[in-house]
Amino acid sequence: VVVKEPPMIHRLDESVVNRIAAGEVIQRPVSAVKELIENSLDADSTSINVVVKDGGLKLIQVSDDGHGIRYEDLPILCERHTTSKLCKFEDLQSIKSMGFRGEALASMTYVGHVTVTTITKGLLHGYRVSYRDGVMEHEPKACAAVKGTQIMIENLFYNMTARRKTLQNSADDYPKIVDLLSRFAIHHINVSFSCRKHGAARADVHSVATASRLDAIRSVYGVSVARNLMKIEVSDDDPSSSVFEMDGFISNSNYIAKKITMVLFINDRLVECSALKRAIEIVYAATLPKASKPFIYMSVLLPPEHVDVNVHPTKREVSLLNQEVIIEKIQSAVESKLRNSNEARTFQEQV
Ligand code: ADP
Ligand code: MG
Repeated sequence: VVVKEPPMIHRLDESVVNRIAAGEVIQRPVSAVKELIENSLDADSTSINVVVKDGGLKLIQVSDDGHGIRYEDLPILCERHTTSKLCKFEDLQSIKSMGFRGEALASMTYVGHVTVTTITKGLLHGYRVSYRDGVMEHEPKACAAVKGTQIMIENLFYNMTARRKTLQNSADDYPKIVDLLSRFAIHHINVSFSCRKHGAARADVHSVATASRLDAIRSVYGVSVARNLMKIEVSDDDPSSSVFEMDGFISNSNYIAKKITMVLFINDRLVECSALKRAIEIVYAATLPKASKPFIYMSVLLPPEHVDVNVHPTKREVSLLNQEVIIEKIQSAVESKLRNSNEARTFQEQV
């Protein structure tokens, strides 16, 4: 028997490590857009505008009117693990900002060409600087700027041939980006959002800040959705089982669609929760079989220490304490809402 020599173990080049890690944080153009919007929201913006070219592979540009980035911070802005949002691990327990890893911008510079234009309060001009592989390509240049920050990513995945090819062959990410913006727009109703294709005169998402969630839903998802929604609220403050508040809108029996739309925010984070989604689908199928693909918007608030936001680099999934109990309570609230509306309708029809 020939025993093979064990292969030698060596350290990977830092640039290889960084590119691999970046490909996990930024999986596709829409993930870059999500990170940029979350940064704009964290910067207290009231207006966020997105421009996309070639499904995001040629260009993603996000402009906001937030607090901007300090000139002194520009040299380390795109290094890995640089952030203004987290200091100690324990801060994670109570973190209110959407970001905290300091990985998003760095990742973008490892898989694309990033240019930042920003201005902070009190300055007469802004600064513009481009980054590659975590570092500034040149000293920041003074430039004219309006309030806030604009971040531009060009040629995303230029150095990841396989990823670029797969993305070019599949349907482009633009519809996903529009969907993402729509979701943010109906939750953050005090912020105005727009999203357009580069060169297009018309925006595909255009929301203006409003005090009414229903108005926001109407302007983003249309009248036919908004007129078939019912408000729903549940709360529980039993410390032995679960503490949470949920409020949202769910569609009634007149809303007929091909697939479910479920917009879920937990502690203001846009997340997915397949268990909750399934629980709701089951109730609709049982109660309103003809309208079994509902439109659901829910915002769930939990004590921050009951949510672990640190499960996944994309922060798409969170894990909750007492998840089963919470889902059960939301499910039964949805069920009684649907039954009541159904009975009211049957009653009306009989009269
Ligand atoms: P994180 O959001 O996890 O802190 P990022 O890499 O996304 O990490 O961003 C790094 C830092 O850059 C942020 O902590 C923030 O201070 C700053 N930053 C990024 N985008 C913006 C923006 N649009 N406006 C103001 N500051 C920003
Ligand atoms: Mg961030």
